[in-house]
Order: sequence, then C-alpha cells, then structure tokens
Amino acid sequence: MKAKPFRDLSYWERKSFQTYDVIIVGGGIVGLSTAVSVKEKDRSLSVAVLERGVFPTGASTRNAGFACFGSPSELLSDIDVMGENETLDLVIRRWSGLKKLRQRLGDSRIRFQNKGGFELLTKERLQVLEKIDYLNEILYPIFEKRVFEESKTALSQFQLDDQFFCSAIFNPLEGQLDTGEMMKSLQGYAQLLGVNILSGIEVQTFQENQNQIVLSVRSNTEDTELKASQMAVCTNAFSQQFFKNLDIKPGRGLVLITEPIKNLQLSGTFNFDEGFNYFRDIDDRILLGGGRNLAFDEEGVDQFGINEKIFNHLRKLLFERILQKEVEIEMSWSGIMAFGKDKQPIIRRESDKIVIGVKLGGMGVAMGTLVGEELADLLIGE
Ligand SMILES: Cc1cc2nc3c(=O)[nH]c(=O)nc-3n(C[C@H](O)[C@H](O)[C@H](O)COP(=O)(O)OP(=O)(O)OC[C@H]3O[C@@H](n4cnc5c(N)ncnc54)[C@H](O)[C@@H]3O)c2cc1C
Repeated sequence: MKAKPFRDLSYWERKSFQTYDVIIVGGGIVGLSTAVSVKEKDRSLSVAVLERGVFPTGASTRNAGFACFGSPSELLSDIDVMGENETLDLVIRRWSGLKKLRQRLGDSRIRFQNKGGFELLTKERLQVLEKIDYLNEILYPIFEKRVFEESKTALSQFQLDDQFFCSAIFNPLEGQLDTGEMMKSLQGYAQLLGVNILSGIEVQTFQENQNQIVLSVRSNTEDTELKASQMAVCTNAFSQQFFKNLDIKPGRGLVLITEPIKNLQLSGTFNFDEGFNYFRDIDDRILLGGGRNLAFDEEGVDQFGINEKIFNHLRKLLFERILQKEVEIEMSWSGIMAFGKDKQPIIRRESDKIVIGVKLGGMGVAMGTLVGEELADLLIGE
C-alpha cells in the first residue's frame, strides 16, 4: 500500500496525544474490556485503544448476541476433544465473563434478557437426551442446580417444524443481549474512565526498544507514530499480521435478520447441530446465523462476504423449519471469528512490553470481559 504523508507533530500533539502508558490494538470487546480493566485498576494510567475500522470491524459488532456457555451437544463434543476438565474450565470462564459483563454495564443498558435457551434435536441427535443427567452432574459444582431439562412443549409452543426437530433441551440460564447496545455502552464506559478510543487508525507495524514500543499507524490522511510503555494486542482473527506463528485460523460467520414479524411466537435463543446453526428473537424479528460447517474451507478467511450457498441454506431453514412461511429477509452480514486447535483463548505475555489476548472462538461475548481482565493483570499486575 502506498505510504501516506508523514506529518510533523505539533508540540501539543507530541505532549498530549502521541505517548501512552498502555496502547491497545483492536477495539472489539476484548480490546475495550482490557482498556476498562486497566483503568479500573489504576485510573492514573493513560490508555488508548486503536481501532482500524469506523466501528470495531471484526466480530464484536457483528455477532448474534447469545449470552451462553455451551449447548448439551456442543459440550459433549468438547468433552470428546478436550476432556472434561478443560471443557468445564471453559464453561466457568464463559459464565464468569457474562456475569462480569452484566455487572459492569448493567442489564438494562445491554438489553440483557434471561429468556432461556433451547437446543433443538434432529433425529440423528436424539441420543443427546441420554447424556443430560451426566452433564447436569458435572455442571452441578458450577451452577449448584440442574441446568438442562428436556422440554416436551417447546416445539409446539414456538410452532417449529416437528417433523424435522424431534425434541428440545431447555437451559434456563441462557440469555440474550443487544450486541450494538452492549458495545456502545462498553465504549461509553471506557471513555468515562478516560480511555482515548481512536477509530480509523490501523497499526501497520511496531518496534520494541529498551524504553517503549513505537507503533507505526495509518489513518485515512496520514502515517504517524504513537508510543507506549506497554501494549496489548487484541486483534483476534487478524493477529497473524503481527505474530505469524500463532495457532489461529479465521472463520467467517454469516447472519441474517428478518423484517419485523407480526405476532411472532418465538422467544429465546435456539441452536442445533452442535451450535453450528442458531437463531433468536430480537425486536420482533428473527436473527438467524451459522452454516459455517457447510463450507469450512471457503469460510476460513478473514475477508467479509456472503457465501451464497450458506445464505440459501439459512433461508431454507428459516422458511421451512423455523417459521414454516416466507418472510422478508431485511439484511445479512458476515463477521470474522478466530479458531485454533482447541477452544481456549490465547492470553499471554509475548515480550517484556507486549501481551496478547486473541482466539476468542464463537463465544467471545461470554468470555471477552474476563480475557480483558486477565490481560490487564498481565499488564499491570493483580
Ligand atoms: C457471526 C458471529 C456470531 C457470533 N455470535 C456470538 C454469540 O452469539 N455469542 C458469543 O458469545 N459470541 C459470538 N460470536 C463471537 C464473538 O463475537 C467474538 O468471539 C468476539 O467478538 C471477539 O472479540 P475480539 O475483541 O477478540 O475480536 P474482534 O471483535 O474481531 O475485534 C478485533 C478488532 O481488531 C481490529 N483490528 C484488526 N487489525 C487491526 C490493526 N492492524 N490496527 C487496528 N485495529 C485492528 C479489528 O478491526 C477488530 O475490530 C460471534 C461471532 C460472529 C462472527
């Protein structure tokens, strides 16, 4: 890309805008949460968040807003791959992250609603019902109650296609939030604490010297340098631009939303096929997403875009299995997640002055706040 003019800084820009105690790269939920946690620990530190997009442009303003910690079939599959302990550790992280997010911003601001969630079972997945007791038993130490129960009424209550779905499992602890309001209030809270959020600023490279990190940044009008004593990299799926050897693979997710539907019966969060397909109600509409498993390779990219095959799959599901009638699909969009060999996020110190918090997978709304807190601990101690 062609270099932009490198402008001399004024005395004031140098004194008040160029240098920070902590610079955070990436203004998604993890970057903002890290900034907030740093400020909550030490208000005297100067903190800037650099975000390349006009809005945070990755996953945090493009997700489905499920406040969840894993459906039964998803947890069973995780136990197969990662074992019981690591799966339970992830559940604890997601649950604690959600609690912290709600405490920090307030349920009414983020429009959190505890409507409960359902895993819908197709014929091939009915055997999951036999594992409910096992899951409830291992989850008991975390929640101190039974979490999953078969629901005999959900399919008829929500008028779902009961030829395709054969049963449902209810989780009363699952909730949903308004992603846009959540991110807006997180930005607002960060600013209230004195965090400087700079949008439209892309970090190109950085260099660590003995005293500080020097970041080369680009805006629409110019290239310049910013400096910090410490830096947190929270660029999730886009992190290989800085660290080539990270265990990160981007994964694009597609979401669509209907027009408002009169007398919509559906209420709550729903998923099936190990969480690969999901839908919820929002503002009298249905938001529906997923289908990435139909085209893993094509969707393993960090470029936004709509995969027609997946769009058509979701559209068919919506019309034939969920609503059983056609409605207008008002919008669709994509977001980019970060996956790896396992589902644990990468949270670590990379060097003397650099920490990273990336690879949030498909449940970063749940985990992002906690990851931010852990990064702040790494930056300035507990
Ligand atoms: C379609 C979809 C549905 C999802 N649904 C849910 C859900 O229902 N519940 C749930 O818990 N999770 C969900 N997720 C996952 C969740 O959204 C993510 O895990 C979480 O948002 C990740 O946050 P983050 O801050 O790590 O990354 P991001 O939100 O991607 O933030 C990283 C930021 O870094 C910025 N950046 C990158 N490079 C640079 C650079 N060089 N300079 C400056 N800035 C840079 C990007 O613009 C981006 O804004 C979903 C994700 C998607 C895509």
